[in-house]
Amino acid sequence: MSSKRYYQEIPAGEVDPGKRLAAERALAHVEGRLGLPHIVIRWVREISETTFNLADSLAEVDKASQALGMVAGGRPDYSVKKPTAFIDEGGFGGKVHPISRQDAIYVNADQPESRICFIVGHECKHLADHRVGYRPYTPEKAKAMEGRADNFGREVEGELRGG
Ligand SMILES: [Zn+2]
Repeated sequence: MSSKRYYQEIPAGEVDPGKRLAAERALAHVEGRLGLPHIVIRWVREISETTFNLADSLAEVDKASQALGMVAGGRPDYSVKKPTAFIDEGGFGGKVHPISRQDAIYVNADQPESRICFIVGHECKHLADHRVGYRPYTPEKAKAMEGRADNFGREVEGELRGG
């Protein structure tokens, strides 16, 4: 049985306000600690494989009909993109986009509020690593990088718990 899980970006307005507040508060703290300004928090939610595939097909249909000039006004509009989506083995609390979004972290909106601070710290540490060009070419380096991100996440959690 596959352990693949599917996620799709959702508007911040759909996220529990307590979680958003916890995330923004953690981000403000982390930006100062890491000297990383202008990070954007994006939110994802788990979706079914069926919904994931459907969104893919709909995006293709949209693109095709627009290319044929079937939209009002008859001019193709290539601005329609499918929403950012991830497939992950086993699921995740947070993610940084592997290539295109070096200024964003993705947080799983289904995680409990008590985890949000750690996730933001962890993912921002990855962004900091990426920005200085760090690439974990070996499993050992990847493991060390995860360890550093975990440590930083716990530090941030501790620093913010006091108030
Ligand atoms: Zn990580």
